[in-house]
Amino acid sequence: MKAPICNVCLKSEDELCSMCEDKFENGKITDTDINVSRILHNLSKEHASLKDSEIIKTFEAENVVVIATAKGDGAKVVGRSGEIVKKVADEVDKSIRVVEKSNEDLETIKGLLSPAEVESVNTVFTPNGQEKKIVVSDEYTGKINLSEDEFEEIIKGITGTHYRLAFE
Ligand SMILES: [Zn+2]
Repeated sequence: MKAPICNVCLKSEDELCSMCEDKFENGKITDTDINVSRILHNLSKEHASLKDSEIIKTFEAENVVVIATAKGDGAKVVGRSGEIVKKVADEVDKSIRVVEKSNEDLETIKGLLSPAEVESVNTVFTPNGQEKKIVVSDEYTGKINLSEDEFEEIIKGITGTHYRLAFE
């Protein structure tokens, strides 16, 4: 399993090695990255699909923890009928959403917003410069368990690009 923390740290219970400790101090990895990676590593003993999965990053929002995986690894982390994410959800006491990081930002965006459908992604010009705006039908307002701000922060963390979410 590949995770935001190294193999040694995946196996340990509390301490971090000096390399991972540095990443933690610099804010490159968070408590949620460490916690969720270790939970998944533990589960990989009974769920072999996790062994060749890659966890890129995790994000903790108010109502949900988002796990970003490498492309093609989402199903390995979700497990059959969601059995793996259910166990993770029990441990972190929040629901879990798994999203694959794709080469195409739009695929990642769709994954994070599903089942809401993306109507369009437009470049708009604002006094502060260009901005990419994702439009979702307003029938989904309040039906996504992430706030607009949380969504924007997470999608920036995964894709490196700032997108703005709008319900219209
Ligand atoms: Zn380490």
